[in-house]
Amino acid sequence: MNNRRSFLQNTMTTLASLPVLGAAALAYAKDAVVKLVDPKSAVAKGLKYVEASTTKGKNCANCIQYREEMTHAGKKVGKCAIFPAQYVKSEGYCSVWAMNPKAAKKTEIKKPVK
Ligand code: SF4
Repeated sequence: MNNRRSFLQNTMTTLASLPVLGAAALAYAKDAVVKLVDPKSAVAKGLKYVEASTTKGKNCANCIQYREEMTHAGKKVGKCAIFPAQYVKSEGYCSVWAMNPKAAKKTEIKKPVK
């Protein structure tokens, strides 16, 4: 009887901890899957990709190629059609940059009404 009770208690404890373990494993797996573009790679160098844009108002976050933004290691990263197997930093930039019309609308400066 005691064995049965302790078996049930152990089983319930184990089952109760599964969601916590699952969430931790999922977060770990997501982090492991995110591979950032190496600015030193040949393709990145060819496109003059940098992880921090020095061109005012132009960065990956407002580029038409940028999508599926998420947080990785405390930084915002996203997918880019130019680097399909990797992620780029939201504040990055490359020579292929083109303004995303949706981002342009958000940052559009409206003229004052006279
Ligand atoms: S094309 Fe260049 S600027 Fe645009 S998201 Fe990709 S890396 Fe960033």
